[in-house]
Amino acid sequence: MISRMIVLGAGGDLAARLLLPALAGLRAHGRLPDDLAIVGVDRAAMDDATFRAHVRTAVGVHGDAAARSAAEALAGSCTYRRGDATDPDALRAALADGEGPAVVYLALPPPVFAPAIRAAAEAGLPEGSRMVVEKPFGEDLASAQALNALLRDVLPEDAIHRVDHFLGKQTVQNLLGLRFANRLFEPIWNREHIERVDVVWDETLALEGRAGYYDRAGALRDMIQNHLLQVLTLVAMEPPPTLHERDLRDRKVDLLRSIRTPDDVAAQTVRARYTAGDAVGGPVPDYASEEGVDPARGTETFAAVTLWVDTWRWSGVPFTLRSGKALGALRQEVAIRFRPVPHLAFGQGQHPEPNVLLLGLAPDRLELSVTVNGPGEPFTVEEVTLAAHLAPQDVSAYGRVILDVLAGDPTLSIRGDEAEECWRIVGPILDAWRTGVPGLRDYTAGSDGPVSPGWPPPAR
Ligand code: NDP
Repeated sequence: MISRMIVLGAGGDLAARLLLPALAGLRAHGRLPDDLAIVGVDRAAMDDATFRAHVRTAVGVHGDAAARSAAEALAGSCTYRRGDATDPDALRAALADGEGPAVVYLALPPPVFAPAIRAAAEAGLPEGSRMVVEKPFGEDLASAQALNALLRDVLPEDAIHRVDHFLGKQTVQNLLGLRFANRLFEPIWNREHIERVDVVWDETLALEGRAGYYDRAGALRDMIQNHLLQVLTLVAMEPPPTLHERDLRDRKVDLLRSIRTPDDVAAQTVRARYTAGDAVGGPVPDYASEEGVDPARGTETFAAVTLWVDTWRWSGVPFTLRSGKALGALRQEVAIRFRPVPHLAFGQGQHPEPNVLLLGLAPDRLELSVTVNGPGEPFTVEEVTLAAHLAPQDVSAYGRVILDVLAGDPTLSIRGDEAEECWRIVGPILDAWRTGVPGLRDYTAGSDGPVSPGWPPPAR
């Protein structure tokens, strides 16, 4: 395993909230190499001692109990180099602190990705090094292509980890087990039996002070373009012969390529932003009046998109991806809704709900609703739910991503062509939205959002 990690942007929010706590969690569970050295690079004036104190605080505030128990050990393996990530000399200096290949983690604001990658190309990375690039990977197809071209000058594709921590989630990985390790589901995993698929990430939290990033991104770029499309690929791809990175990622790209570029954006998408209301955590002001928001940008805090997959397996099945902030209920799941039975031999007036297979993304759970004979009158039916709560993982989703990077396994990283395909799908939506099509709707914070969970009506 590689034994050093250089974190560019180590003083930032991502490092404090996700990366450092995940590293501490791995340390606590004995999953990090004992000799892993972490070099933090940022513009802030810090020395080793101040950075270590920052690491302890970040893990203390954002880590779970296991991570907190390893805060001291993690801090002890950290050093700090003040520098500008766009300056090749800063990277050279960080690399000079050790020997051998390094993981270079770009925990930087997205506009700094390209100059930092150029600097890495100029500095040169030791043989066997890897680079981790955070999301968002570009802001449209052209910028993603440009980033890919820059990265190709630094490292081979399989040493580039465009991370999407959703792929480290237990339920998301369980999609593979569920689909490909059971006889039960795959024969009915197609348009003959499945009526619609919803991939939902409804949050009850509002902006939480992240206007600087979020107001330039919005729900479509922040959630749908990457995380939810990634989940969709695992739901809908063809079975891979192995779970080797090439087989898995080829199948994912095939699936993305078969998603039709949205041709009727007005009918296929919804965009909206919240207005003042009582959200779960308390009163929330209008999004437009939140600190740091420029209302003129018209950034959406809710997005829903229905996509069509043009394959024999999926033709005519709507896949709806939806995500919003400040909603009344937390709903984070993949819901696979099956078609009704072709004929019901039971009495008049009985309309059993079709089966729904539900994969909860947070918390991790699996539910299958089935119709059975109810109590009381013979031959009346009722719905019951078979539910399994999946045991919590000892490694967080971010921790899983880091482990794969350290092991040099890109299976759960986004390949360059995959990132570009995602923008190919989402780009026309953003283009239409910029022209005001469809119009920006409002929804009250704490409500169910601008459209019902059943939007749009299933195609028959
Ligand atoms: P920040 O704005 O906090 O920036 C990260 C750090 O990089 C800051 O300390 C910043 O310093 C520093 N930095 C900026 N420019 C340079 C430079 N030229 N050289 C060295 N350091 C520099 O961003 P986040 O931490 O929030 O996000 C980092 C990345 O992670 C982004 O791509 C983001 O989209 C992604 N991400 C973030 C998540 C989060 O929860 N924060 C979640 C998922 C992904 P300074 O303050 O001086 O600008």
